[in-house]
Amino acid sequence: MVEKLRDPDCIFCKILEGVIPAAVIFEDDDVMAFMDAFPASQGHALIIPRGHYANIHETPESVVVTAARAAKRLAAAQKQALAPDGITVSQFNGAAAGQTVYHYHVHLIPRWEGQGGLRPSHGRDQGDPALLRELAERIRGAL
Ligand code: 5GP
Ligand code: ZN
Repeated sequence: MVEKLRDPDCIFCKILEGVIPAAVIFEDDDVMAFMDAFPASQGHALIIPRGHYANIHETPESVVVTAARAAKRLAAAQKQALAPDGITVSQFNGAAAGQTVYHYHVHLIPRWEGQGGLRPSHGRDQGDPALLRELAERIRGAL
């Protein structure tokens, strides 16, 4: 396997290395999908490439395509497992756009009609790790 780029200070690289824990939904040679630790809604998940690229400009086109394919697969599993009324798929580049972690990633945020206090992409509170693991398992079961 080709060696992937890493940034030792990057929190998502640390998740890839298993240095910090995450509720992983699926992973392969190219991408990893896991639950967002500060969910904007129940089931909020992220997809990251295995290589460290700061944003869409630095990410090779083939990697963007691979992440998009994974997003489609994950959205289908979220739909089946959680029955949301909709799913927001979003991706931020640069602080001015709301990016806070500089390792390319795609958000998949299930939405329900009548959900109050809708937050565009960033939750305020840390999700309960046990609940995040349970949600990851439910979504994985629908892949
Ligand atoms: P951005 O603002 O860069 O698009 O999104 C970064 C996302 O990463 C946020 O939604 C934030 O909640 C999430 N996040 C930050 N730190 C961690 C972490 O340590 N673990 C997980 N699973 N998610 C994180
Ligand atoms: Zn990284």
